[in-house]
Amino acid sequence: MAEQHFDLIAIGGGSGGLSVVERAARHGARCALVESSRLGGTCVNVGCVPKKVMWYAAHLAHALDDAPGYGFRLDYFGFDWKKLKNARDAFVQGINEWYLGYLRDAGVELIRGFARFIGAHTLEVDGEHYTADHIVIATGGRPQVPPLPGAEFGMTSDGFFALQTCPPRVALVGSGYIAVELAGMLNALGSEVTLLVRKDHVLRPFDVMLREQLMERLREDGISVLTQTQVRAVVRLANGALSVHCDGQVSVLQVDALIWATGREPNTDALDLTVAGVMAQSDGVIPTDAYQNTNVPGVYAIGDVTERFHLTPVAIAASRRLADRLFGGQPERRLSYENIPTVVFTHPPIGTVGLTEEEARTRYGDAVKIYQTQFRPMYHAFTARQPHMVMKLVCIGPEEKIVGGHLIGEGADEILQGFAVAIRMGATKRDFDDTVAIHPTSAEEWVTMR
Ligand code: FAD
Ligand code: NDP
Repeated sequence: MAEQHFDLIAIGGGSGGLSVVERAARHGARCALVESSRLGGTCVNVGCVPKKVMWYAAHLAHALDDAPGYGFRLDYFGFDWKKLKNARDAFVQGINEWYLGYLRDAGVELIRGFARFIGAHTLEVDGEHYTADHIVIATGGRPQVPPLPGAEFGMTSDGFFALQTCPPRVALVGSGYIAVELAGMLNALGSEVTLLVRKDHVLRPFDVMLREQLMERLREDGISVLTQTQVRAVVRLANGALSVHCDGQVSVLQVDALIWATGREPNTDALDLTVAGVMAQSDGVIPTDAYQNTNVPGVYAIGDVTERFHLTPVAIAASRRLADRLFGGQPERRLSYENIPTVVFTHPPIGTVGLTEEEARTRYGDAVKIYQTQFRPMYHAFTARQPHMVMKLVCIGPEEKIVGGHLIGEGADEILQGFAVAIRMGATKRDFDDTVAIHPTSAEEWVTMR
């Protein structure tokens, strides 16, 4: 059988795969990309993009609640979920189509189908064989559902994006990004939300200040957060509702929808990695070195199939650097996984970069100095809701180098990026103090903390 040969093939047309082929092609490499589903991957189709649309809608719902405090008299005729879903789907489809042009303009060949290895440098897609000097595994991940009786009656974040109406009563199981983000959106858009958390806190890897503040905000907004509560089984009732059986703060809960937000697993099980000799962990994650190399020369892994930060800009950044290293004459180019900023799109949002206070104390002991402030943003002077903004700077040593920045409050999502640049460049508390504030804003508190 004739084989087509490329300099580089990426498996997966998501954030990582699209970025590596585009950059490699720009360096002159002959590239192909294999995608079995819609271009754009998780982020575009069932992740960041449709999620942010729903977050904006929820944000508007809160703004409508706030408006009377500013003198507005409103007649509210409800929220048309279906209308927003249709607009959101059309927006996403536009991005899918845009990516076709992106690949065409870059001169990348798009191979539609599901790829599997039939050799270290050979792939099979729908009976056709393709070889490449460099193969990048960027197949992303999928939601993980706990193996419990009746688990199939629940949905995952993928199902959330397919919902045609807003479910009146929802149980969300989990405590990570997706659980808290969807809880906030559904609550703001009209669902009665119960968040079932198996341990004591949401967002456990985050700074303690953030998780405690977020728990308060979720409860203030009317979300029932039940900690130390484990789901044991789900039963579908004759009327279509679900009965959720738990151990913990509740024993049975009746809802119209249940969403599993209990983590994600990598799409590596159907790739036939062993045929290529590529090692994967028992959970399917592909280990790589700092340069995204797997154990097989010329085979790389990027994005959600690896164990590092599962964020779109991380997959993109690692991909572009890999292409620069392979084809751009920059042999040492790689992504540093330190000081990666991230935002959790809750209401209000959370921004975090660098070390948590706990991590800094473990690493630097008494050399750690914390600056923290809490205040009511001026916007809320006239609103019924009164969420505080809380900020923390984690500093070390006599020069008070900033190694962590954490905030929750209105605008945190947009405030963080600039500070992430400063922290990455090694800013000290003195640099922050010496920066003139922008008044009146919430962000100015970053540079006026005592
Ligand atoms: P993916 O984007 O998942 O792409 C993998 C692609 O590979 C898919 O298109 C899949 O169809 C394809 N594929 C799989 N196997 C094969 C095969 N064998 N052959 C051919 N094709 C294959 N990150 C952020 O930074 N900000 C956010 O706000 C954010 N929100 C999120 C919200 C949700 C609900 C979810 C689930 C994730 C969110 N993320 C967010 C995370 C982000 O979406 C991922 O980190 C990112 O998409 C990972 O990119 P990737 O290229 O590794 O994989
Ligand atoms: P996460 O890994 O963030 O959180 C899942 C959490 O659910 C676990 O940490 C665990 O927390 C809890 N959990 C696991 N199993 C169970 C169980 N059986 N019952 C109850 N709780 C359980 O996963 P997500 O699915 O929320 O998100 C996946 C990734 O996608 C994120 O880590 C992030 O990288 C990315 N993402 C990014 C977003 C953004 O940038 N804004 C938004 C959405 C996703 P514990 O151990 O504390 O119980």
